[in-house]
Amino acid sequence: MIKYILKCKNKHEFESWFLNSIEFEKLKKKKLIKCIYCKSQNIEKSIMSPKIVGSSKKELENLSSNKEFIKVKKDLIKIRKFVEKNFEYVGERFPQEVRNVYYDKRKNNNIYGTASNKEREELKDEGIELTSVPWIKDKEN
Ligand SMILES: [Zn+2]
Repeated sequence: MIKYILKCKNKHEFESWFLNSIEFEKLKKKKLIKCIYCKSQNIEKSIMSPKIVGSSKKELENLSSNKEFIKVKKDLIKIRKFVEKNFEYVGERFPQEVRNVYYDKRKNNNIYGTASNKEREELKDEGIELTSVPWIKDKEN
């Protein structure tokens, strides 16, 4: 997945995650991207910031003690809520479902789930780059 900072015509900025840049263009064309503040569909990409974030427990622990991370933690909770609200959870079927999206066999492109490192490598070989997001719970700390 890829993170874009989006800007609506009213200059609201918000972050959103997409499977890849192609998916962003597709959703934009279909007017499926809305400003989270004013629901405007007039959205432009602001800064592209693809980020690969480790999701293993150790990496998360390292992140948790990092000041930068504490700052972004609120954002991660927002992202999580956004994903949960707007994306379909496919769990361990994720690698297969991602392929379906990639090869245009799927209607709902907004999916999330889990993939092992091996599955991620295989997808990467097929040209599908994933980004994992640390899944932050509201009540942690
Ligand atoms: Zn707006």
